[in-house]
Amino acid sequence: MIIDTRPRYAVIGNPIEHSRSPSIHQAFAVQCGIKLEYDRVLAPLDGFVNAVQQFFSSGGRGLNVTVPFKEQAHRLAKAHLSTRAQLAGAVNTLWQVDGELHGCNTDGVGLLADLRRLGHDPADARVLLVGAGGASRGVLYPLLSAGCAELRIVNRTVARAHQLRADLLQHMPELTHKVSTGSLNEAGNDWNIVINATSGGLSGEAPALPPGLYARGALAYDMVYGSTATPFMKQAHDMGAHHCEDGLGMLVGQAAASFEIWHGVMPGTAEVLAQLRAELNAA
Ligand code: NAP
Repeated sequence: MIIDTRPRYAVIGNPIEHSRSPSIHQAFAVQCGIKLEYDRVLAPLDGFVNAVQQFFSSGGRGLNVTVPFKEQAHRLAKAHLSTRAQLAGAVNTLWQVDGELHGCNTDGVGLLADLRRLGHDPADARVLLVGAGGASRGVLYPLLSAGCAELRIVNRTVARAHQLRADLLQHMPELTHKVSTGSLNEAGNDWNIVINATSGGLSGEAPALPPGLYARGALAYDMVYGSTATPFMKQAHDMGAHHCEDGLGMLVGQAAASFEIWHGVMPGTAEVLAQLRAELNAA
């Protein structure tokens, strides 16, 4: 019998079949000459904590966390959180040191790298963030610290947007004047960058946003990605957004930052992104 001794990593979520993280981490591993196994773990909606404990107690080394568990992952790793994870209130990267769980959030790093790659640096931009779940939590502070002029968070459940702002201002009261919140139909007008951080795209839905969102030359950025334009990208195109992009580049960027945490080396992203795009388009 051959026993596989490669260190084990995985992405955990529900649903999880759509995740491209296994091929991204395998491509980084080949690039960096590291041997590893990287799987998908489907956790029951009420069984995240058990699934994480089982993964690490059976020798797993690191987990990426996706929908809808990032806030639970934050609670689970609360004794050892990076500053990024503390400010986000959400965790997408877990690992263990001396049997203790540690957590970080690399979504913001991945998003900022991709916005800059696309020529839309958020510095001085008016940014609308749609959604108030774990992904929004992860990118909120990085967007503000990149120097955006104004940031509005809108969400289907408006109380969740208010809570997100309140949690941020508890740590950063000096940002009060820059951050506002509202319901989807209070999204306002003339944004330079509109980021869809809702999970509606996974079930084919665009958020119910009003017209007039996009300023001249604006970017519509969907964190969801696919082989064709996502529902949000189609909606943005119909509303006159100048530039519509999906979140594949963010996915590769956040994965690279997780890879660096686990393996101590930052992989290159351009080739992996091009390879992944080609795979998606061929699928
Ligand atoms: P989450 O914590 O479950 O939050 C889901 C968010 O989507 C909530 O704000 C929810 O609103 C909203 N929502 C769901 N269905 C909606 C609909 N039909 N209309 C309007 N709003 C809707 O999920 P998450 O972790 O924040 O992830 C959000 C999305 O970002 C996912 O699709 C995920 O795959 C994607 N993502 C991509 C990357 C990347 O690297 N590209 C990274 C992170 C996340 P309510 O509060 O009203 O329920």
